[in-house]
Amino acid sequence: MAGRGKVVVTDFIGEPMKDELKILGDIADVVALNAGCEEDLFGRIEDADAIMVYHCIEVTARTIDRLENCKLIVRCGVGFDNVDAVAARKRGIPVANVPDYGTEEVADSAIGLTLSLTRGISYLDNRLRRTPQHEWTHFSVRPLTRLRGQTFGIIGIGRIGTAAALRAKTLGMNVLFYDPYVPDGYDKALGVRRAETLEELLSQSKVVSPHCPLTDETRHIINADTIAQMPGGSYVINTSRGGVVDTTAVLDAVTSSHLAGAAIDVLEQEPPDANDPLIAAWRNPDHPAHDRLIINPHAAFYSEEGQRDMCVKGSENCRRVLLGEAPRNVVN
Ligand code: NAD
Repeated sequence: MAGRGKVVVTDFIGEPMKDELKILGDIADVVALNAGCEEDLFGRIEDADAIMVYHCIEVTARTIDRLENCKLIVRCGVGFDNVDAVAARKRGIPVANVPDYGTEEVADSAIGLTLSLTRGISYLDNRLRRTPQHEWTHFSVRPLTRLRGQTFGIIGIGRIGTAAALRAKTLGMNVLFYDPYVPDGYDKALGVRRAETLEELLSQSKVVSPHCPLTDETRHIINADTIAQMPGGSYVINTSRGGVVDTTAVLDAVTSSHLAGAAIDVLEQEPPDANDPLIAAWRNPDHPAHDRLIINPHAAFYSEEGQRDMCVKGSENCRRVLLGEAPRNVVN
């Protein structure tokens, strides 16, 4: 690269950009636009040599077609659906993501939510807060069953699914996974079992935790029909993508007690509408599902270290292309 480059951080990150400057400062000017929408980029991004995008804005063909020198767009996160990767490829611009910044955190959250539901922790806490004089006892949460020996069912054994499998094993759970896209041997390497079909996984699992991406195949993979295949008194945890789980079906199943509980970190609409039936039930102490639902605001990824990984790994990838090296984790 002749002369200094320019790296634009479009959104989410403001000054001071300690990590970005440490990694890129000797070869590029780094500019944070703190954009709230794509229009905020107009006139400020066209001459960028590399771009780092977070989750607050979309980068569509309207922006991509105006880029003059861009050698890389990094989506500093896992999902890259807010960047038009096809339009970028047409212009010869690679799009990369940062796939591993929150692997451990999401797996920890999936297990934390599992423990909270199966040990009755949030249920008892909710009930005790409401009726402190009557409920200093475990009676209301009965029956709970011992976790050791129960089956933890994973849909999608990629990075996060694998990390969740290792954690569930240490709790003494039998881990079963369904993932038609991983080659034979994963089960042996991890010491877990493979289900050949989704039905096989569902019918045996005390806890079902999807860790697959949202695709046409996985949209509402957890729905009324598939929940009906799970044993009575089982649980659904979703830390993947909102669209993977039909939350209306989950609410119905918790209300009817077919499911003993559900924990949802991701929703199809985020933030949710107050009239969303799941949210309304979770807020209403008189709803029969109220105490058996846990909702989190798409926070499973978050830790200070993970957030720093996004900046550091995104910046390192920009540095690679500015120095003429091949970028990593290209998704288009
Ligand atoms: P990954 O790509 O490493 O693994 C995904 C796995 O799903 C792969 O093994 C793939 O073969 C499998 N898969 C794809 N289609 C499938 C299908 N039809 N049936 C079964 N398995 C299928 O992804 P990852 O990094 O482990 O991320 C997993 C999910 O977690 C993604 O949906 C991601 O968006 C989500 N995520 C959520 C948060 C959060 O804060 N809640 C943070 C990061 C990632």
